[in-house]
Amino acid sequence: MNINLEKKLIRLAKRIQLSYKPNKVIHITFLLYRNKIISTGINDKRKTHPSSSHPYKSIHSEVDAILKLEIPSECKKYHITNIASIAQKVTLVNMRIMSDGTIGLSKPCKHCSRLIEQIGFKEVLYTNIDGGFSNG
Ligand SMILES: [Zn+2]
Repeated sequence: MNINLEKKLIRLAKRIQLSYKPNKVIHITFLLYRNKIISTGINDKRKTHPSSSHPYKSIHSEVDAILKLEIPSECKKYHITNIASIAQKVTLVNMRIMSDGTIGLSKPCKHCSRLIEQIGFKEVLYTNIDGGFSNG
């Protein structure tokens, strides 16, 4: 991912934080296809049942982004209609914006990592405590 795209995504994530969760930590996932955002996911603690025994007590941003994903129209014209078909061209980018607007570690949890691996995304990037991106 080039530096301009990184800066653009950081600006966008901060705007989402301001409008959606001002002064709160936000975990965001962008799915990129050919450097274009095709889905955006946000963590949400209120979405699943509190006594659920499922590993996800809340909707993680990765799952949210995957559920919201729409196949780009340029793929539909080749009759590509499911996520697995385009996953190898999709980069997943995780970002954590802290309550003070600084960048935090956004490495996927073990459950999301397993899901990401099963889907087979081309690349996974996540913000690190130095304010940059790590992969893998
Ligand atoms: Zn997770």
